[in-house]
Amino acid sequence: MNFVFDLDDTLCNTAGLSFKYIKQFFSTHNLPYKQIKDVSRFAEGYFDWDIETAKNWYKKYGDEMMLNFDIDKNVKPFFDKLLKLNHKVIICTARARDWHSAPKTITKAWLKKHDIKFSKIYIGRYDKENVCLDENADFFIDDDVNILNNVQNKTHGKIKTFLMTTDYNKNLPVPSGVTRVKNFADFVRRISDELNIR
Ligand SMILES: [Mg+2]
Repeated sequence: MNFVFDLDDTLCNTAGLSFKYIKQFFSTHNLPYKQIKDVSRFAEGYFDWDIETAKNWYKKYGDEMMLNFDIDKNVKPFFDKLLKLNHKVIICTARARDWHSAPKTITKAWLKKHDIKFSKIYIGRYDKENVCLDENADFFIDDDVNILNNVQNKTHGKIKTFLMTTDYNKNLPVPSGVTRVKNFADFVRRISDELNIR
């Protein structure tokens, strides 16, 4: 079977960890920005800085921040198990140079740091529905309902799609045909049952 995994807010709590890191950074550096939201799709949206300031901050400090993210502890054992059973593990992340200085280098270094093995990785602004088609995906997981909608529509429901629950999407309606999972462990349980590999 072929699995396509989103990275941010699927394999790690990107928004939550970024929020904490940026808040701490403002405090340490005596920067004037304030928190204006309790829930945001992206970490930069929690604060009252304008988009250019946020982008510049990310380009300067974002790589170091992202390299220090924790990864969900269930990811490595599950990926290792899938690979051992000859399933394909494809990671597809939209990290790109508009917000990051070195998205490819940092993402690969981060995966290496956590000893994450995988079959293939896409880093950049790919249409994930096309990646799923190109890779003959059987399973796709992401936290973005719009992306899941696109994948559902383009693949006519032939791929099993999962919505990773996050703070920002927990109250959003689940697109038709998509299964919501509580967290990565919940996803692992469901797939393990389905493939009988528990
Ligand atoms: Mg994501």
